[in-house]
Amino acid sequence: MTHSAPTGATAPRMARDPADRRITVIEVGTRDGLQIESTLVPTARKIEIVNAIIDSGVREIEVTSFVSPKAVPQLADAAEVLEGIRKRPDTYLMALVPNVKAADRAADTPLDGGLLLVSASETHNRKNLNRDIAASLAGMGATADRLRAARIDVMAAIAVAFGCPFEGDVPYERVVGIARAYADLGVDHITLGDTTGMATPSNVRGLLRALKAALPQVEFVLHLHNTRGVGLANVLVGLEEGVRRFDACAGGLGGCPFAPGATGNICTEDLVYLLQESGWETGVDLERSIGVAMMMEETLGRRLVGQVMRAGPRLKLHAVDAVRTAQG
Ligand code: ZN
Repeated sequence: MTHSAPTGATAPRMARDPADRRITVIEVGTRDGLQIESTLVPTARKIEIVNAIIDSGVREIEVTSFVSPKAVPQLADAAEVLEGIRKRPDTYLMALVPNVKAADRAADTPLDGGLLLVSASETHNRKNLNRDIAASLAGMGATADRLRAARIDVMAAIAVAFGCPFEGDVPYERVVGIARAYADLGVDHITLGDTTGMATPSNVRGLLRALKAALPQVEFVLHLHNTRGVGLANVLVGLEEGVRRFDACAGGLGGCPFAPGATGNICTEDLVYLLQESGWETGVDLERSIGVAMMMEETLGRRLVGQVMRAGPRLKLHAVDAVRTAQG
């Protein structure tokens, strides 16, 4: 695991060697997925799912969120879930930690990395966090201090970075400004959230270039949704622009409770399939990853949108006799 306390003096994690074919797939299904489900998944089942995610070869997992249990009752068991997980030595557990109160709750858990959160649009930030962007940013220092005092790495995320369902396009400069505020707090790991699926190959490239030019020391992570069917196309552009870390949800779960029309994240197993078939190394076992998506489907009792989970790996061949042939 390469995460280290973000002192600003550590080497940036952005892969610069083109021969480096390693990609980190970050599973966020138990957080971004389960937070909008009406089904309250039992704590023990969440733990089972995270253990299966670890067994599939995923090293980094955004397990839950320490948002107010009143706002998101689906994740009220954040501490219990983290404590129940069977971690491997290289497992890295993350959670959203949006304020000091959340950091207090996270402090005594086995959390490795806490993600600060702000939206790139005022309207979404107010809906999501109930305050304006400036007030959110002003509160971050105290949250970061609390996390570091508990020996939890401080990371950060920017929601609706590629567009807002209330305000439309978000200017790159605004995202750069927020990223700079995070960097000033010593954060060197920032996730760009396409919360409502408004990222396109063109604005993914544009925003990443603007950010890399302004903050070359920061590693950017892409958190993409497939709302409009271009999630994996955006991944390919991210790869071209040097991104080596991607969030994804088993089975394509997810959405945003505070954004109309927001649907699923890119699917973990579809992402793993794309990356492996393109010669990237993920360390994830595709069959096991499909198994996790199946577990999610069984848990929620409805069909999920993942495609590779239906079709299976490319070279999983079928017996000729088992398939009907057209007559004549
Ligand atoms: Zn999301």
